[in-house]
Amino acid sequence: MLHPQGNSPRSSRSVAIVGAGIVGMSAAHFLSRAGWQVTVYDAGVVASGATGSADGAVSVASKKPGPLMTLAVAAVKFYEQLIAEGVLVDEYLPRSTFVVASDDEELSVLERHAGELEAASVPIRMLRGTALTEVIGAAAPTAIAAAEVQREGHAVGYRVVERLRRLGGFAIRRNCRVSGFTSSNGHITGVITECGTEQADAVLLATGIGSMHFLAESDLIRPRKGQLIVTDRAGADSPHFPGPLMSCRYLVSKGSQPANSAAASRSLGLVIDPLRTGQFLIGGSREDRDDRETADGDIVAALLRDAVALSPSLARLRVIRVFSGLRAATRDGMPIVGRVGGADNLWIATGFEGDGICLGPLMGRLCQQMICGEPPDQDISALDATRFRLTLAAAA
Ligand SMILES: Cc1cc2nc3c(=O)[nH]c(=O)nc-3n(C[C@H](O)[C@H](O)[C@H](O)COP(=O)(O)OP(=O)(O)OC[C@H]3O[C@@H](n4cnc5c(N)ncnc54)[C@H](O)[C@@H]3O)c2cc1C
Repeated sequence: MLHPQGNSPRSSRSVAIVGAGIVGMSAAHFLSRAGWQVTVYDAGVVASGATGSADGAVSVASKKPGPLMTLAVAAVKFYEQLIAEGVLVDEYLPRSTFVVASDDEELSVLERHAGELEAASVPIRMLRGTALTEVIGAAAPTAIAAAEVQREGHAVGYRVVERLRRLGGFAIRRNCRVSGFTSSNGHITGVITECGTEQADAVLLATGIGSMHFLAESDLIRPRKGQLIVTDRAGADSPHFPGPLMSCRYLVSKGSQPANSAAASRSLGLVIDPLRTGQFLIGGSREDRDDRETADGDIVAALLRDAVALSPSLARLRVIRVFSGLRAATRDGMPIVGRVGGADNLWIATGFEGDGICLGPLMGRLCQQMICGEPPDQDISALDATRFRLTLAAAA
């Protein structure tokens, strides 16, 4: 196993990471391995943002073709690498995702998306007729085709973060909101927190939806609520789920495939995810709202109706829990990673919307390379913060 301090030469430089979600904690891990003195600050506790209220699809199948799909392929390989290195042992489950079409319109979405995945060198198997029923015993007879997207996986966000915390090598300040920065001549010198002011040679904002507070362009990042349902355990006689079933409509609701109509402020896209416990996670909604404490009956009922239509055996199960979380969605649907203008040592990595569990560890590594001035392992120019000319809010 790699020691948290790694083999890199030690640096006496210090970095303040704001946000203890999967992105901030991954960056903390890699910066500490690179020899930095790292302190992570969180307004709540570790994984109290989106990372703690997500499904854990480490999925290429759901990604928009282009840079996000390419990065997701690299992110899956990076999870595999971290397991081989002993960092995330038992925290990543390799599996396939099955994207299912139930009518002609969905079939055309499926065929287009499968072609785009193949062009990105993602292994695909198309299933129709008896092959479809043999492989996905749990699919309804109305399913007309499915694409098995191979070599992806599942990771639980809060468990990944907990593993990184236990590996250690950095300090964490919980319940310690950062409200601004001290600076001198365009250079950040420290963070102002509820617990006092602390010095730092560099700062990384990995604040998810909380990033809005720090940026002058406050409408750049919007909350996108997601509601998820957890069932009780299926019996041993239940039909076979070889992996998660994703409806083609999910690709449209996530913006990974074009919609026929203008984007709605509230949409449903269905994924039925069989968990290791024998339970199912069914989700989820995409709503332009920020009330993460509430669940609403009509969304839950609609998701359950869709789930039973895709897999009738689910009707035998009971719902034991509904929860929701807020994704950080950017104006152009791409994450924002790079330097914030007006300071030469202030960095940001945010806006991962529904992709941060997949991309988080890789983004942590890329943030470390960015802050250390090393060439990045992946091309992240499409995520570059300069496309929005980001500047700090006056209050920060
Ligand atoms: C319902 C739902 C389902 C999802 N499913 C998936 C999925 O299947 N696959 C996938 O890849 N992704 C999924 N996601 C997305 C994923 O959860 C996020 O993209 C990811 O967790 C973002 O991580 P982060 O570290 O950027 O932000 P967060 O986890 O939100 O962490 C940000 C942290 O910053 C802290 N913070 C904010 N402001 C301050 C401040 N001023 N001072 C100190 N601390 C501050 C917060 O307390 C928080 O802990 C889902 C999200 C939701 C909501």
